[in-house]
Amino acid sequence: MCTNATTLPKHEDRATESRWTSEGFAPWKFACLTASSHCSRRRPEPPVASFALRRDLREIFRLTFTASRAQSRYLPRQADRSTLRQILLCGLEDQVSFGKQCTRVEATALGATAHFADGTSAAATVLVGADGAGSQVRPSLLPNAQPVSLGYSAIYGRTNLNTTDHPLVPGRLETSGVLAIGSPGKTFFFTTMAFRERPRDAFRRFMCKPPGRDQGDYVMWAISFPDASLPAATARGGSDALLQFAKEQAREFHVALRQMVDASEPGETLLVPLRMTPVKGWSSNSLTLMGDAVHLMPPTGSHGGNNALRDAALLGRALQEAAQGAIPVGDALARYQQEMLAYSSREVRAALRMLRLSLTRNPLIRVPLLKVLPVLHPVFQGSDGPVAVKRSTPKGDSSDH
Ligand SMILES: Cc1cc2nc3c(=O)[nH]c(=O)nc-3n(C[C@H](O)[C@H](O)[C@H](O)COP(=O)(O)OP(=O)(O)OC[C@H]3O[C@@H](n4cnc5c(N)ncnc54)[C@H](O)[C@@H]3O)c2cc1C
Repeated sequence: MCTNATTLPKHEDRATESRWTSEGFAPWKFACLTASSHCSRRRPEPPVASFALRRDLREIFRLTFTASRAQSRYLPRQADRSTLRQILLCGLEDQVSFGKQCTRVEATALGATAHFADGTSAAATVLVGADGAGSQVRPSLLPNAQPVSLGYSAIYGRTNLNTTDHPLVPGRLETSGVLAIGSPGKTFFFTTMAFRERPRDAFRRFMCKPPGRDQGDYVMWAISFPDASLPAATARGGSDALLQFAKEQAREFHVALRQMVDASEPGETLLVPLRMTPVKGWSSNSLTLMGDAVHLMPPTGSHGGNNALRDAALLGRALQEAAQGAIPVGDALARYQQEMLAYSSREVRAALRMLRLSLTRNPLIRVPLLKVLPVLHPVFQGSDGPVAVKRSTPKGDSSDH
């Protein structure tokens, strides 16, 4: 999967570099990866845009991101999740234990203790729950903040771009995040991971051992639909059953989108229930939360991972101040929590708004969105992609609203 790695705000980015160079260079590597690596010197900086389209790929609106040359590192761009993760991990191998499942945590007089499924435990001055949507740390701090279903799920898939003899992504959409709005309750999202620096070159540049197989360019797609339309057997049926269901859901979309699903890699299909966590604050001098463990949100807007990285930079800076004796640990955690909850709750609200807008059944919104706004935009030209939009508009398109 690729992650839409918007670079951190300026102060976060700077703090990330300076904070970590003494302890390990992982976040320094992140700053470089987002700001320059997949940002290679070899391919020119492409224009960046987000498109909202109808299911026949006719444009509803677009957001174009522009920046001066000096500011271009702050433009949103893609990073391959697996490459990023492996490069961040390299150099920290002796600090990370795999396969230890945390089952519960508790605050103690000296800090906090984590208990693991294998019967072992570990004590720390500060324990950070960065264990994602199913966090085992969150119940200790927020027993009533379980993830809430939003009534929709998404199937994610990945399609290699070098497996077909024709281009899979319409030309004008190659460097964009694209959301196509389908029948009520259904959307199709895709974005292209076109490496601007080959992963093996990035591994070499960061002095990390490259994996055996180099990752090629790919497109990541996701189809969202109401939970009620997913048969329970399909949900249980694994990757192949999910892919089959995704192909059926894709039928109403433009042939270019259907082709992406048809050509997708077997075994790479994933079901993601769309959920959020209703979180207010908590009080602790030794336990805290970050990322999806505290602000799980729907994927609309691609903010989840970006917020997790922002949390890590902010918390790291606060803890470093505490380690230097500038402030008590409890104050550092409280300051982090206050700032993190302020920006993350804004992002959660924005993601929810976007989700509701894209999946709405309300004709008062769908008619202007799907009938009026597209008239103001030119139809995509045939040269932009594998198939001209006009020729491939699905039958029954008039039922769009
Ligand atoms: C398909 C997909 C595409 C996405 N695309 C984007 C995008 O483009 N941009 C974006 O910003 N966000 C995106 N997101 C959201 C983003 O992936 C998450 O918001 C982000 O990964 C959250 O990071 P995290 O570290 O909080 O949690 P996670 O990434 O879920 O990491 C949690 C870690 O904790 C470990 N863990 C879990 N439970 C335990 C336990 N009990 N004991 C020990 N370890 C445990 C897990 O193994 C994992 O390593 C996407 C999500 C999905 C599913």
